[in-house]
Amino acid sequence: MRVLNIIQDSIVDGPGLRSTVFFAGCPHRCKGCHNPNSWNRRGGTEMEAADIFNILMANPFNDVTFSGGEPFYQNHHELLTLASELKRNGKNIWCYTGYKWEQLISCASSKAVCEYLDVIIDGPFIMEKRDLNLQFMGSSNQRLIAVSLSLAAQEPILFE
Ligand code: SF4
Repeated sequence: MRVLNIIQDSIVDGPGLRSTVFFAGCPHRCKGCHNPNSWNRRGGTEMEAADIFNILMANPFNDVTFSGGEPFYQNHHELLTLASELKRNGKNIWCYTGYKWEQLISCASSKAVCEYLDVIIDGPFIMEKRDLNLQFMGSSNQRLIAVSLSLAAQEPILFE
């Protein structure tokens, strides 16, 4: 997987202290993107899922957020390996994505990754819908989706 950066102790990428993985590569090209230097899928550094896992597990206090870039632009099998191992070891996982929930669960390999995530913040950033008062989101079209509830209900259930 291509990784731009892993930051520790983020308080803006979900509740509590989180280690945030910024993956490299994004196809969405949102106007006003907060991180356009993440768009190049050949940017950053090539890392194995096990290497990322070891960095994240070295910090026992932080939960984990996948960001970018577009996490689902990575190899889904490797992303699944990373997410499932983190979950098996007790990490709460949030994931930002420019794809909509409905797109993710209509693809078998991305749905398989979702099954190991706790919350997905879905949809592209839309400049015209930017709202600085939103917590953990950039624009009002985006949703904080509670993944396990949504999979069980077969419709998106918002995280509260
Ligand atoms: S999905 Fe995120 S990283 Fe990708 S262009 Fe949109 S705001 Fe930027």
